[in-house]
Amino acid sequence: MSTDRTNCGLPRAADAGTPMTVYGWVDRRRDHGGLIFLDVRDHTGILQVVINPDTAPQAHASAHGVRLEYVLRVHGELRLREPRSVNAHRETGEVELYADQCEVLAVAKTPPFPVNEDTDVEEGLRLRHRYLDLRRSRLQRNLRARATFISHLRAVMAEQGFTEIETPMMIRATPEGARDYLVPSRLQHGSFYALPQSPQLYKQICMVAGIDRYFQIARCMRDEDLRADRQPEFTQLDIEMSFVDEEDVAAVLERAIAYAWSVSGFRGAISTPFPRLTWREAMDRYGVDKPDVRFRMELRDLTEALRASGFRVFADVVAGGGVVKGIAVRGGADLTRGDIEGRLTEVVRTFQARGLAYLWRRDDGWQGGIAKFFTTAELAAIGAITGADVGDAVLMVADRPAVVAASLGALRTHIARERSLADPDELAMIWVTEFPMFERDEETGEVAPLHHPFTMLHPDDVDLLETDPLRIRSRAYDIVLNGREIGSGSIRITDPAIQKRVFAAMGIDTETAQRKFGFLLEAFQYGVPPHGGFAAGVERLVMEGLGEENIRDVIAFPKNQQAQEPMTSAPAPVEKAQLVELGLQLAPEPPKG
Ligand code: ASP
Repeated sequence: MSTDRTNCGLPRAADAGTPMTVYGWVDRRRDHGGLIFLDVRDHTGILQVVINPDTAPQAHASAHGVRLEYVLRVHGELRLREPRSVNAHRETGEVELYADQCEVLAVAKTPPFPVNEDTDVEEGLRLRHRYLDLRRSRLQRNLRARATFISHLRAVMAEQGFTEIETPMMIRATPEGARDYLVPSRLQHGSFYALPQSPQLYKQICMVAGIDRYFQIARCMRDEDLRADRQPEFTQLDIEMSFVDEEDVAAVLERAIAYAWSVSGFRGAISTPFPRLTWREAMDRYGVDKPDVRFRMELRDLTEALRASGFRVFADVVAGGGVVKGIAVRGGADLTRGDIEGRLTEVVRTFQARGLAYLWRRDDGWQGGIAKFFTTAELAAIGAITGADVGDAVLMVADRPAVVAASLGALRTHIARERSLADPDELAMIWVTEFPMFERDEETGEVAPLHHPFTMLHPDDVDLLETDPLRIRSRAYDIVLNGREIGSGSIRITDPAIQKRVFAAMGIDTETAQRKFGFLLEAFQYGVPPHGGFAAGVERLVMEGLGEENIRDVIAFPKNQQAQEPMTSAPAPVEKAQLVELGLQLAPEPPKG
């Protein structure tokens, strides 16, 4: 059927006079009683078809009944359009197909939303009729750009000596720390597979197996709360390398991402090497571990300068071991008291800060309710440290270091958004290195790895394992793009003695470690090369590359916020018999937490 097919988007003026057949969907239709005009669309574009009742009465009769989204086969001769009807906005705009045959291959119900326009449609409806949504031009573009990007990633990884290896989807639980999706086993009654949160342990085993350089475009499944850039199922460029350090891993990823980006039609250009920032620097200067460095407005430490200040609130916090930090908002003299005490204070309160202190620097000096508490020298220090000029405002938070960082960091991003400080076309890709090894889990109070328990420690910090684990730096690193985490990785622990001490610091005894990860620890006894790796979120890269805000717009069949797939209505209840076969019985629904 398609041997004689011409794609709708391809005919040009030079092809005029050629007979051809096109196949596609009806994008628009104009029927004024005489000539019928149909825009026929396929994945390459749109071609205008003209049907003349005098020269093609049969084709005209069948075109008369045609509606939007009908599927057609049209045969005719390509002709140049009259100069006044040339459409300069369309690549096929100089020509039209003068039809002699028009065959309806399939009729279509009236679509529940326009397919031929990029109008806003309620997302539930789009997901329910995903095939129509995907037929629209923006998602067509997104899926094709995603495929192009992935194929270039594959090519550039192979070129760098990496072997693509598929790891299993039904596995033992992995250590990424999110909730697992479980698959009950029929043959091993009472046992479950987990779907991979990542191929972490398999890729490390690949290093023991002598693969040397592994990669995979890997699907990962994590049962987490969903956000605009998070899906329960997502794809990573997952890599692992033997005999490397941080810089080797970084070089491979920088090359892969920058290259695939540049040949996939993504916006802007990525320059390499990506600047490096330690986690400590990121927290000190930006208050967050994924800073958007497209704009400055950095957090500046005022603790020492204001230690003895007459402003009791600050002095008390400092005396209690807290810190005072501030940011200078350029042109912030235009912020009113209402702005600051209203919505900006709201932002810092979300992060447990008790309040937001502020000063304006105007022509005639420092202003603001608290200015009178500071000496001239202290005000001069505030100006010098924050870099505030006349016309700026200084916003300050005094609290525990973690609260100051989180609240001012969030305020910085909030103000940048309000005042459009970031250049939307700029791509600021950075490495954040030396992440802490552990954090305290807020729910359980336990010490838990920030990355995962196989992450190597900073060599200078190993001896803190038994005394002060929360102060240990690790050899874990993230890539951050415009304030969004793109991926993480680390150099791994390959020394069994250190691994044992890490488990101990986490409160995992040898027996539990053996039960959960025994196979990895055993494999390591047979000659493990030093190794490290990384995983980059493909969707997040594609989103940034295409300027999309919603991760679902770069996934063909995504889940909604309730982790459902509305088109097929997954997840769905199963037959009782299936449960019986699996030896499962449903308990009453647990209370929603
Ligand atoms: N498995 C890790 C992750 O998914 C990445 C890595 O350490 O390579 O975040």
